[in-house]
Amino acid sequence: MDVIEEKDELHELIEDWLHHSDHVALVPTMGNLHAGHLSLVELARENAERVIVSIFVNPTQFDRVEDFDAYPRSLEKDCLRLRKLNVDAVFAPQLDGIYPFGLDDAARVVVPSLKDDFCGARHPGYFDGVTGLVARLFALVQPDVAVFGQKDFQEQLIVRRMTEDLNFPTRIITAPTIREDDGLAMSSRNQFLSDEERAAAPELYAMLSDIASEVQDGQQDYAALEEDGRSRLSEAGFDVDYVAIRRAENMQVPDRDCDEIVVLAAAMMGKTRLLDNVVVTI
Ligand code: AMP
Repeated sequence: MDVIEEKDELHELIEDWLHHSDHVALVPTMGNLHAGHLSLVELARENAERVIVSIFVNPTQFDRVEDFDAYPRSLEKDCLRLRKLNVDAVFAPQLDGIYPFGLDDAARVVVPSLKDDFCGARHPGYFDGVTGLVARLFALVQPDVAVFGQKDFQEQLIVRRMTEDLNFPTRIITAPTIREDDGLAMSSRNQFLSDEERAAAPELYAMLSDIASEVQDGQQDYAALEEDGRSRLSEAGFDVDYVAIRRAENMQVPDRDCDEIVVLAAAMMGKTRLLDNVVVTI
């Protein structure tokens, strides 16, 4: 497995793969890998002859320098795990490899319609950070396929839109969320939960699943369901950001014809922000 830091080296490797007519799958990550990330890698492997994982803690996705600095970094350990999955290459660039003109003068890639709601409302500029990075990675790696997790539902939707709008020749695959035994979605952030917070955290997925069942059973008073969901989370000790029932296709308010619904929530458990969703076909 090649571990690559420099763009020139990446370019050579990709040229070689293309020369052999190999398809390339990219899995973008910020490292500190867990079983959720590894499932994305396995899905990538099923869809291309070559798999490349990027590991880059993207400063434009953080509101505060302290949070960027505190983000756990574990490149060596991550590479050991990826090697076992027969990943072909890890691309772990330095900051100036991704933003050669510096952060303030970096070209921006913005998807206006979705970026300021839900998670974007809490973190202005967050999704511009995502699209800016993913566009750069797509230009550098030129993947046939890129895999994103359903856990970050809004992110994969925005990436899909950007890919279509900018005509990147990349197929986006959305991978199912991998969970702990008690239902909590795996996340790099779970390690920040205290024992007590960790014990309460599964209520997020339990609540989403219950709402999803009610939607599936034909309950259509979505405002009441959302309100119940918020109350449940508050009772479990969460500070609720949002609980929302939306069209899975575009995160708009569902109308009568809608056949795929996403139930999403984000909430703080202590100092840790947890995020999850369930998709229902009706
Ligand atoms: P991150 O390193 O947190 O930026 O995540 C990299 C990718 O892994 C994103 O596409 C996430 O949606 C995905 N991911 C994170 N957690 C999970 C999980 N529990 N199950 C599946 N995919 C996940």
